[in-house]
Amino acid sequence: MDYSELVEIYEKLSATTKKLEKRDIIAEFIKNLDTNELEIVIPLIQGKIFLEVEEQELGIADKLIIQAIMGLGFSKTEVIDKFRDTGDLGLVAEKFAEKKRQATLFQRKLTTEKVLASIRELATPEGKNSQNRKLKIILELLNFATPKEALYIIRTILEDLRLGVAEGILRDSIALGFDADKEKVEYAYNLETDFGIVAKIAKEKGNAGLEEVKLEIGRPIKVMLSEKAPDLENAIEKAKEPAIEIKYDGMRTLVQKDKDKIWLFTRRLENVTKQFPDLVELCRKNIKSEKAVLEGETLAIKDGKPAPFQELSKRIHRKYDIKKISEEIPIQINFFDCILADGEQLLEESFSERRKKLEEVVNQIEGKFQLAEQIKTTDLKEAEEFYSKALDAGQEGVMVKNLSAPYQPGKRVGYMYKVKPEKESLDLVITGAEWGQGRRANWLASFILSVRDEATGELFEIGRMGTGLTDENFKDMTERLKPLIIREKENTVYLKPKMVVETGYQELQRSPNYKSGFALRFPKLIGIREDKSVEDIETVQRIKRLYKL
Ligand code: AMP
Repeated sequence: MDYSELVEIYEKLSATTKKLEKRDIIAEFIKNLDTNELEIVIPLIQGKIFLEVEEQELGIADKLIIQAIMGLGFSKTEVIDKFRDTGDLGLVAEKFAEKKRQATLFQRKLTTEKVLASIRELATPEGKNSQNRKLKIILELLNFATPKEALYIIRTILEDLRLGVAEGILRDSIALGFDADKEKVEYAYNLETDFGIVAKIAKEKGNAGLEEVKLEIGRPIKVMLSEKAPDLENAIEKAKEPAIEIKYDGMRTLVQKDKDKIWLFTRRLENVTKQFPDLVELCRKNIKSEKAVLEGETLAIKDGKPAPFQELSKRIHRKYDIKKISEEIPIQINFFDCILADGEQLLEESFSERRKKLEEVVNQIEGKFQLAEQIKTTDLKEAEEFYSKALDAGQEGVMVKNLSAPYQPGKRVGYMYKVKPEKESLDLVITGAEWGQGRRANWLASFILSVRDEATGELFEIGRMGTGLTDENFKDMTERLKPLIIREKENTVYLKPKMVVETGYQELQRSPNYKSGFALRFPKLIGIREDKSVEDIETVQRIKRLYKL
């Protein structure tokens, strides 16, 4: 397909802010695509070059894009001035591609496949001359691009497409385009985690095909989510037939086993198998089923007690000395669900059946490889005792679950409620930062925190965090955030919303200064949550509820 066809859709999408219009535009477009095109085009509409499971990052910095635009035949001053005016390198590329066009007659068509393949190549590992090679790839694209194509190529490379196409819109477009049920599209997506494949199934096999999508070992799924209950009594009432479990504060871990082969995934679909050889070994030996998919919470353990998440966090992204750090920071897993055992999918089974299966397949090792501690009761007093025992043991709180409920991938459906002490922390995403001053001039020193709108996925600022950080924190955060910079304006940088931070605060106030309508007083860093993504952060809707409380 010509890239210009896709660019036409991008243009239409950016011309409206209305969700239904966006849905209709996409539905109309994808309806007539063949299945191969769907797989390519749908992720591109989301601005995705790699799926989460591919775990590839583009990480292209502004500097390289500026050089590429200069390569069209313009001076650094010209390019940088324009960047300063617009704050958007996409627009800068568009402008200079236009100027260049006027000077040449050269024209060749870019295909979508070519654009995608070239951008994917940008992620290949660093090495000698890698910057030059990347520069050449971008410049080649820009040389062939029309001005509008240049705009979207650059925005795609910088992972900042700005089209406002959230997952819900894409789901509805696929349903509309292929005459399928929204719920079935969503069900399939939660197991496939790729809208391109889901669209292909919807086109080829309709609702029946979507329903048939199965859990597949070796591929992560969107896990079932929990709701927050104001207190135990409320949670017990809502859960109907309640089981109460300890809520461990660690890394949610999707364990998959096929004979001797083990996969470990986080809830953001990252494959962390390599980082946890100790857990892999335990699973291999102590899951008594050839093919199984279990869920558990992995904790770091220190002196027999759960260590703060930050300890475990040291292991999640570790790429070297893995064996050494496994010995330094030992772990424990607490299994709480079983969604496939003996090759049979158990999503439709009740939680009580799934827990039974879990008891059967896990060979427990105390303190190491065990089931989440659980009681079954509707008695408030008994529940409260269990809750305070959990807190005394240094755990985060409890989960109250409905024993008769099935497993609903990807959804917050009211089958699990978390109860933890009030004055809790909030998970927020960092969307910007400011360079420090004086001694801290080389560090990002004040971080813009944002919450998410549940319906549209839009992010809204809710505060700035600059206190409670050590020099070590500033340094570490700066290093990790630098590759996420989308653009800079004066002293402020705008960031890809990737880093989720657990934040403490003193008070929540109404505020006209932030788009969320609220401000946090004295937000304080508790820690970076590598295990969470922007989809897991607090929503404006919940902040409103918190405020009312
Ligand atoms: P939160 O991260 O605060 O939204 O709480 C939900 C998370 O608690 C889940 O995603 C799990 O990672 C974690 N969790 C800890 N213990 C349990 C448990 N017994 N059952 C379910 N989830 C648990």
